[in-house]
Amino acid sequence: MSRFFTERLSKLEAYTPGEQPKDMKYIKLNTNESPFAPSESVIAAAEREAHRLMLYSDPECTPLVSAFSELYGIDKSELIMTNGSDEVLNFAFMAFSDTSRPIVFPDITYGFYPVFARLNGIPYEEIPLSEDFSVNPEDYIGIGKNIVIANPNAPTGIALSLADIERIVASNPDNVVIIDEAYVDFGAESAVALVPKYPNLLVTGTFSKSRSLAGARLGFGIAQRELIADLNTIKYSTNPYNVNRMTMAAGEAAIRDNAYYMNNCKTVMENREYTRDRLCALGFRVLPSVANFLFAESPDVDGEKLYLELRRRGILIRHFSKERIKNFNRITVGTRAEMDALLAQIENILKGN
Ligand code: PMP
Repeated sequence: MSRFFTERLSKLEAYTPGEQPKDMKYIKLNTNESPFAPSESVIAAAEREAHRLMLYSDPECTPLVSAFSELYGIDKSELIMTNGSDEVLNFAFMAFSDTSRPIVFPDITYGFYPVFARLNGIPYEEIPLSEDFSVNPEDYIGIGKNIVIANPNAPTGIALSLADIERIVASNPDNVVIIDEAYVDFGAESAVALVPKYPNLLVTGTFSKSRSLAGARLGFGIAQRELIADLNTIKYSTNPYNVNRMTMAAGEAAIRDNAYYMNNCKTVMENREYTRDRLCALGFRVLPSVANFLFAESPDVDGEKLYLELRRRGILIRHFSKERIKNFNRITVGTRAEMDALLAQIENILKGN
């Protein structure tokens, strides 16, 4: 650290992204990316746009916003596009929370929430998940603080029902409730339908998972126009050109190819159930995930050991050292072949081979 780093930020503990090692070819099941390449039309659109990279991108993301608002049946004023959903989440922390408006979220959830809170000097409280690792909606009813909940939650994959989300939003009318739907396309119910009813609801989402664009960085926020206007104030005060030209073109083409992506989601969901059954047959406890990953622990092998053994054998999964979940691993659902390779290696490790 330099002696110039401000006092306020010098104690910041940054988010640790999943590892991207280059020493050998791994089966990557550690960062919840899609195992499927973008569709041909998405690749062609990004390539075409590369010829116009000497020009700044459109800050209003006009064609992308048009295509997206049509697909989701919302007004253009209810939408903001961002550089990954991490960006809209950070904008929301900045815009709606401060020392007098703290924020709450589960103790086991997306690791970026406490980082955004500390980055922006926001007091936060972590509410423990239930024994079974689900979010207990009663903990959030009428809490009178801003709330962020990933639905489905990460790394557990467990989702709340839309009815419970609505009770949380309705019971906190003077606070902003952010529902982070990064993984919603793999089987949970979206809260977008509640947006017209609740001025305090912000739903965020991403093209990184279900739409195979993690490397392009494209996220979005959906809310009533007043909340979106506030988020735009933050965007235009930091980086109006936050979505680059190639990403914008790729995102628009991905929306037009929606059927291809939704079909890939179906395949991932089938592979998830297949993998869950096989892991259960091997004695694992697997949480009931509706995301593109599974969170699982074995009574026979320590969580960290399993992670390290698989890594040595060319398969990356994600291990978290937090006390409550240190015997678990988060496994991204890939292709059937990737899942079979994973299961074969797990069988070997359990047999001591
Ligand atoms: N929310 C959750 C719960 C996530 O797991 C992730 C992925 N790391 C994100 C948001 C952010 O994804 P992205 O910035 O790629 O849209």
